[in-house]
Amino acid sequence: MQQNEVGNQLVLIAEDEDTNFFVLDLFIRKSLNLNTIRVVNGVDAVETFKKHPEIALILMDIKMPVMDGIEANKRIKAINPDIPVIAITAYALAGDEQKLRKAGFDEYISKPVQKRELLRKINKILGLSE
Ligand SMILES: [Mg+2]
Repeated sequence: MQQNEVGNQLVLIAEDEDTNFFVLDLFIRKSLNLNTIRVVNGVDAVETFKKHPEIALILMDIKMPVMDGIEANKRIKAINPDIPVIAITAYALAGDEQKLRKAGFDEYISKPVQKRELLRKINKILGLSE
């Protein structure tokens, strides 16, 4: 990854709750200098990904109206199996991570999202340096 490409990368944030979105958006734009685009349900996540194949990373809330994050991830991976998708979930249950990895997610972050963990996982996936 070239340094000068970093600021141009686009992150799709699929999150129906405003406060959660604002936190994610702030961390990503201010700390990583990436661009973001927001959707509030799984159907819009799939449609937006089709329209913007330049999206480099997706943060996917699991519990969303119309279509949940598990189904949206499945459909997006069917379009492009290489797009990295991080599951964002409030379900902090034991075994969740394995279940989500089985569902095809590349990473998993539980709410409330910790800035450090989020940045570390995004850096790892996009190959950015901290
Ligand atoms: Mg939600």
